[in-house]
Amino acid sequence: MNKENYYTNEMAKRYMSNSVYQYFLKCEANALFNLENPSIDEEPATPLLVGNYVHSYFESVESHESFVNKYSQFKNSSGKVKDLIHTKKGLRSDFQTAENMIKRLDDDDLFQYFYNDEDCEKESIVTGNMFGVPWKGKIDSLNVQKGYFCDIKTVDDLNKKHWSVDDHQWVSFFKDRHYATQMGMYKKMLQGMYHKPFSCYVFAVDKTQGNGLAAIEVPFEDMTEAVTSVEEHLPRVVQVEKHEAEPTRCEHCEYCKSTRQLTGFITDPEELIY
Ligand SMILES: [Zn+2]
Repeated sequence: MNKENYYTNEMAKRYMSNSVYQYFLKCEANALFNLENPSIDEEPATPLLVGNYVHSYFESVESHESFVNKYSQFKNSSGKVKDLIHTKKGLRSDFQTAENMIKRLDDDDLFQYFYNDEDCEKESIVTGNMFGVPWKGKIDSLNVQKGYFCDIKTVDDLNKKHWSVDDHQWVSFFKDRHYATQMGMYKKMLQGMYHKPFSCYVFAVDKTQGNGLAAIEVPFEDMTEAVTSVEEHLPRVVQVEKHEAEPTRCEHCEYCKSTRQLTGFITDPEELIY
């Protein structure tokens, strides 16, 4: 596996990753369908592109250039070429925001100190056998020498609260997106590869006016707890992936909606609300 084929469907099938795992937790039917029927050359969602725009800037000048070039002449599945980054007048507003986020991080000394230390390796691929299953991950900035790794998160609003159905309470973006799981698995893979402990620093920057900025040292306990939860759930995910168990449908996502067959009548339309 290398940087060129990291995001291919072949690698997604060979290695479990945090994103695929999270898809399975959300809706098994949707996750399995997408894994087995990958959409080719589909236009990426804007928030994803904005995040990658910021990430590639901090990876290297060449990476940023090649990213911008690629999506300035993006060819979709119908063969149409489209500029996803610019309008005729310049950068699209989403990427102007991305430029502001970049500047916010670039001007911050604490961020520079950790993220751009001379021993840091950018976009470092890690792998490991996690509870009997091969996993992969890509680390934004890894410092093996000094025993830490960094991750940049681009967020709509750092201070926004999110309702957690599982916890019955409001939680931060960090918990809402299950980042402790991602970071905990990275840490576990790194420790397997280098036989030493690693700290995890997340730099989050948001899209609001003024661009909120936060540096988070992810507590070991949170990562350990998240990894334990992976250990519990992973056998089920593997079963579904191998078609040894019927995938559960969430009935809320686009996939479930679009494939739902009517099996009878409901008499109380209020059931439709959730
Ligand atoms: Zn679903």
